[in-house]
Amino acid sequence: MSGLIRAVIDTQALRHNLNVIRTRAGRAKVIAVVKANAYGHGLVSSALAIQDATAFAVARLEEGMSLRAAGITAPILLLEGVFSRSQLEDAAQDKLDLVIHNERQIELLEQTEGAGRFTLWIKIDTGMNRLGFAPRDFAPAYKRIRMLRSAPKKLRLMTHLACADERDGDSTRAQLKRFEEAIHGLNVETSILNSAGLLSGVAPGGDWVRPGLALYGASPFSDSTAADFGLRPVMTLISTIITVREVLQGERVGYGGAWTAPRDSRIAIVAAGYGDGVHRSFAPGTPVLVRKQRAPLVGRVSMDMIAVDVTGIPGVEVGTAATLWGEGLPVEEVARHAGTIPYELLCSVSQRVPLEPH
Ligand SMILES: *Cc1c(COP(=O)(O)O)cnc(C)c1O
Repeated sequence: MSGLIRAVIDTQALRHNLNVIRTRAGRAKVIAVVKANAYGHGLVSSALAIQDATAFAVARLEEGMSLRAAGITAPILLLEGVFSRSQLEDAAQDKLDLVIHNERQIELLEQTEGAGRFTLWIKIDTGMNRLGFAPRDFAPAYKRIRMLRSAPKKLRLMTHLACADERDGDSTRAQLKRFEEAIHGLNVETSILNSAGLLSGVAPGGDWVRPGLALYGASPFSDSTAADFGLRPVMTLISTIITVREVLQGERVGYGGAWTAPRDSRIAIVAAGYGDGVHRSFAPGTPVLVRKQRAPLVGRVSMDMIAVDVTGIPGVEVGTAATLWGEGLPVEEVARHAGTIPYELLCSVSQRVPLEPH
């Protein structure tokens, strides 16, 4: 037992998931979204494991530069684009592709006259109201980009879906309609779908799809898990039981004495707390996998520890492994108990948890 807690990263599963996504994507090309440290899975190691993805996408310039420094040669798309001359120059240097979502970014291109160094993706806001040109502002933006003195290497169009995880699909269809109206008559490649859009099959895909969560083997839908789509979990967060104790009926456990034993109980203390990314919002009853059985969390999450009720689970002792999520315990299920989404759990595994390739 070197470290008590580790996140085991199954790169085989990552490659498997990419293949599942490719099959679903049909003719569309796949942009593997690896922002936020590849959703907590390790930016460079994850990208290297799926180097045959057609392209990668990240949120920040630094992430794109790290991928280039690691030798990734595939196209890399900056989903938020750049915000200054110096960022633009860095992006050009590293041959990063840019999303253009506001007028300030067009101005930057006009001022530097080096647009020919870039593949550009103009983002149209079709209802998310976060990034992108409103449909009525798109035509003038498109025209300005077409008039740049040096034409971009490639010019493509994209939008982002706000409600693709909702089953009825009404608002997704409304967004798609706005997108199609805005780009009507233009012969350019497009990208629309995130994981939920791709997996729900609610909409035709455009030329490029942009899955993130699905790659890592988690479902974006609240009523399904990744296995329903043939996806396999990539991260398994495993810690270690550091003490097992008998707690008598009526005794209380943890800070605030928040849990009272309803009967004599066996309580295991697991080395995992909010200092590791196991949020304090994990509710009592959140399952922890111990010897292949779901043991419910009891009491409050501390910085370095949680308590789980292992009464009736034989063979639990100091050193026994405890899985917080991953293989055998879908992160989607845990996220529901924690009042959050799998994205947030995966991204918030902390620095002190080593990522171990499987
Ligand atoms: C993060 C992101 C994605 C990937 O979303 P998932 O739900 O993880 O598939 C796709 N497109 C954009 C613009 C994003 O910001």
